[in-house]
This record gives sequence, C-alpha cells and structure tokens, in this order.
Amino acid sequence: MKIRNIALVAHDARKKDLVEWVEHNRAMLEPHHIFATGTTGSMVARILPDVTALKSGPLGGDQQLGALIAEEKIDFMIFFWDPMTSQPHDVDVKALLRMTVLYNVPTACNRATADYLITSSLYEDPDYKPFRKDYSLYLQRFSDNDNAQDNLKIP
Ligand code: PGA
Repeated sequence: MKIRNIALVAHDARKKDLVEWVEHNRAMLEPHHIFATGTTGSMVARILPDVTALKSGPLGGDQQLGALIAEEKIDFMIFFWDPMTSQPHDVDVKALLRMTVLYNVPTACNRATADYLITSSLYEDPDYKPFRKDYSLYLQRFSDNDNAQDNLKIP
C-alpha cells in the first residue's frame, strides 16, 4: 500500500462533522499521513496516529497547506468549509481551494463527496496519479528575448 499525504481542514461549525467522519473512516485513514490546520489537527490527533498540525487556519495554516500543494506533497484534501459564516481568512480559503484545482488534487468539501472519495477504488490504487496540466508554455512566455521585450513594453 502506498502511504498518502491527506489534508484535513474544518471550519469551526463543521469540526464536529469532520471528527465524526474521521472516526467512521478511521481504518482507511490510519495508515496515511495527515496534514491538518492547527485546531482541526489537534482534534483528529486524538483519533489518528500520524498527524502534522500546521498553524491554525486563520493564522496561516491554510497558506501552509496551499504551499504543500504547490510542492505537490498532498494527495487528497478533505475541507469541510462553512457556507453559513463569513471567515476572517476568506482570501486564504479561496487561495487554498484554487491550489487544489490548479494541481488537480482530489478535494471533498462535504461529507457526501468525502464518502465517495474514500470509497473509490482509486483511493488505494498505488498506480493512480492525478493528471497534472503542463504549464511549461506559460513558464516560457518570457524566454524568447524579442517577445520578452515586447511583453514588457509600456503601451
Ligand atoms: P483550524 O483552521 O483547524 O485551525 O480551526 C481551520 C480553518 O479555518 O482553516
């Protein structure tokens, strides 16, 4: 079995839901390494053995997770965000979700999707690797000197 890095995050109003989900799926999660935002991490560490708790979400934890995704170190994310409460770190939440789409990280934002994800045959398939879009053309957009000059000209 391949050990996966799984990210777990829950906003305050969704923490109970996430803890219940983790308890229910303990056997499927136990072999894997968990990264979580601070408070979520301290709650799931009572259930799972291998949890790295980052900073609390509003204090930079979401950004730390986003950075791990950009480094391609996260295989799945379960993020129970609260659709009924405005969050002080709303921009960080948006940035984190953007990273999951950019890097094609399987992400569940509610229990039903989390259930589908963890019961998928791909969950334990060691050969499954999500397709990564090729951004090399984007990265080369300033590599041709003439074009680089054109792109930098002030109109
Ligand atoms: P927390 O952060 O786990 O530290 O509460 C969650 C979040 O709001 O991103």
